[in-house]
Amino acid sequence: MNILLVYAHPEPKSLNGSIKNFTVKRLEDSGHRVQVSDLYAMKWKTTIDASDSREPLDSQRFDPYLESQHAFANGLQSQDIAAEQDKLRWADTVILQFPLWWFSMPAILKGWIERVYASGFAYGVGEHSDRHWGDRYGEGTLAGKRAMLVVTAGGWESHYKPRGINGPIDDLLFPIQHGILYYPGFDVLPPFVVYQTHKVDEAGFNQLTERLGERLDTLSLTPPIAYRQQNAGDYAIPELVLRPDILPGKTGFSVHIGD
Ligand code: FAD
Repeated sequence: MNILLVYAHPEPKSLNGSIKNFTVKRLEDSGHRVQVSDLYAMKWKTTIDASDSREPLDSQRFDPYLESQHAFANGLQSQDIAAEQDKLRWADTVILQFPLWWFSMPAILKGWIERVYASGFAYGVGEHSDRHWGDRYGEGTLAGKRAMLVVTAGGWESHYKPRGINGPIDDLLFPIQHGILYYPGFDVLPPFVVYQTHKVDEAGFNQLTERLGERLDTLSLTPPIAYRQQNAGDYAIPELVLRPDILPGKTGFSVHIGD
């Protein structure tokens, strides 16, 4: 397989740096081709602005959506954005690896998503009609590819359990897994999460790489999270509300996961 690892940690000697090195070696030893987007090393430009297009539509008023759409459709995107989109097209599987910072991804990775996920590429794709609300949530440019999060967290695992103080990890990761990965079409594999990072020592590192190694060895076999497809009948269109006969009375992120 072709595997893209998008990696966001500023320090190569960090735990994340070691996990990244382990991941690349394990995948390459298994015969996969791997590309790494090491965002800090690349000095990735995080903010969307007018310089993202070589020929902006309107030099008086910057509209992020319209400029992104125009630049993507006309081959005018800045080279760094186009290169990352090419890597996404090349990849069969994409891994996003990052430390949990303030209950989400580091800003540099969010900035990668915002700029690389252009209008016409990751959103604004497909027909909009009474029966089909765009190619998204299970359809889209990245359909047929797999994605997985590798996340490290300082907090204890219990803090992220269903009744834990931080909120369930599945809920915290929902905007990334469902909103960022499933939306443009990825099949999303269950995340790999390392908790209590400050406790990791040599023995802990060996244990975590053993677990991670198993996940990497089974990337193509692991069943994805069964998010419901938007255009397959579970949602009323255009309201995009789950049909009342499905899980009646239930609400929350988990209702968007089927059997
Ligand atoms: P490091 O600090 O580099 O390493 C952790 C431990 O692993 C160290 O003891 C180190 O010695 C050891 N180690 C590293 N490499 C190896 C190796 N090869 N072999 C053996 N041992 C090794 N946590 C939360 O739970 N929720 C949050 O919302 C949250 N927000 C944060 C916000 C910010 C701005 C920051 C800075 C931290 C936050 N944290 C949060 C904690 C954060 O998630 C952890 O600090 C991070 O995940 C640790 O990853 P690291 O790669 O930086 O680890």
